[in-house]
Amino acid sequence: MSQKLHRIVIVGGGAGGLELATKLGRELGCKKHAHIILVDGSPTHIWKPLLHEVATGALNTGEDEVNYFGHAYRNGYQFEFGWMKGLDRERKTIQLASVCDANGDILTGERDIAYDTLVLALGAIANDFGTPGAQKHCMFLNTPNDAEKLRRRILDLSFAVGTSGHGASKLTIGIVGGGATGVELAAEIDHTIREMHNYGANLNPAQLEITIIEGAPRILSGAPESLSHYATEELVQRGIMVACNARVAAVSETGFQLADGQQINAAIRVWAAGVKAPDWLANLGLSTNRNNQIEVTTCLQTQTDPNIFAIGDCAAAPDGEGRPQLSATAQVAHQQASWLAEALIKRLNGKAITPFVFKPQGMMVSLGKHTAVGSLAAVVGPKRNYYVEGRGAKLIYASLYRLHQAAVHGWVLAVLLWIGDKLRRVGRPTLKLH
Ligand SMILES: Cc1cc2nc3c(=O)[nH]c(=O)nc-3n(C[C@H](O)[C@H](O)[C@H](O)COP(=O)(O)OP(=O)(O)OC[C@H]3O[C@@H](n4cnc5c(N)ncnc54)[C@H](O)[C@@H]3O)c2cc1C
Repeated sequence: MSQKLHRIVIVGGGAGGLELATKLGRELGCKKHAHIILVDGSPTHIWKPLLHEVATGALNTGEDEVNYFGHAYRNGYQFEFGWMKGLDRERKTIQLASVCDANGDILTGERDIAYDTLVLALGAIANDFGTPGAQKHCMFLNTPNDAEKLRRRILDLSFAVGTSGHGASKLTIGIVGGGATGVELAAEIDHTIREMHNYGANLNPAQLEITIIEGAPRILSGAPESLSHYATEELVQRGIMVACNARVAAVSETGFQLADGQQINAAIRVWAAGVKAPDWLANLGLSTNRNNQIEVTTCLQTQTDPNIFAIGDCAAAPDGEGRPQLSATAQVAHQQASWLAEALIKRLNGKAITPFVFKPQGMMVSLGKHTAVGSLAAVVGPKRNYYVEGRGAKLIYASLYRLHQAAVHGWVLAVLLWIGDKLRRVGRPTLKLH
């Protein structure tokens, strides 16, 4: 019977895709009005803006991740585990790669999934712009796995430098990219090393040397100037170095070679600049931009095929008010997911859909455990700027994750999870120290 239902396949259960699958599952799947299928190559979901906290052990993935199988069961959609690798628009199918176990043995071969409507919500990865040595010598923060690797590296080198086993007197960390990701990561690492010291780690915070390397004249260049000044002052006060107008020409195993000839040494090198969609997206026969992002109309339909939609970081979407492309943020992915859920329901009922218009809510950047900085367009309207900083801003920042949890679990469960988090933290280290 479900064979006859309209099949909506969503690829990617991230900030946008999981919220969309949840809404459509509840509205259509549970009522058997459509068959909703979510595809992801990972069995669990972690909200990507939290990856810098995973990388420092401030967030324990075992406690915060959402298992797609369980979530699908409770929310009226089906979960298919596997990485999408191809698209056949004539047959209206997507191809999933074979799934292997930890030893590389095949558990299930390649398989096809049929769709009537397809939504691509695959996210993006950092863009190294082809910088020589970046892939080989840098760590990235694209996935929870990347974040876990970085966490282990920071722990290992902290121990080695703290006990002089590394032969170096300082733990040097270079982060390319002074956008929200790079700034949040730098502040979080700084906070973590101090916290670890309180827990008895040998590495003294004075032995930590973090440098943010930014090509633009200021960090957070997409934010108003006063915000980036506040963030720079906060970081510099803590001893974090901020190198602006600094373009990385090459990366080696010892650090970064800048275009002006300077060298920045770093034992841990992280690339957190730029965003591009995965290269294979450009080979699907859909129209893409130079960053492999799928070009969509104001109704988030691909320019090539009206039955295929794209949202979030993998889409190049206009903002509905004349500006050519929205930035790659969770805020955009969230609004697009909410809008598209309504639009697909209308479309299924034969009703017309009106274009998506992005409503900027401001931006928030975390500067460690106790402080953040941001602007609040949601409160005072997008035409005026109202800036927040300090602990109040941090509370607002933290509430963004709670909003995502509410979208994915409903308000009651989101509040219970919040209380559970508070209780779990009583009497436990605030960091994962192993
Ligand atoms: C450290 C960090 C901090 C950030 N902070 C903020 C912030 O404060 N505010 C903000 O608004 N934004 C922030 N962002 C950006 C934000 O995380 C992204 O814009 C947002 O997650 C994009 O949502 P998405 O749904 O497009 O993709 P994602 O959330 O990245 O999800 C993509 C999903 O697709 C899956 N997938 C990928 N390829 C395939 C495939 N081939 N087959 C099947 N599944 C696949 C992935 O497993 C993943 O589950 C931050 C990003 C980082 C890395």
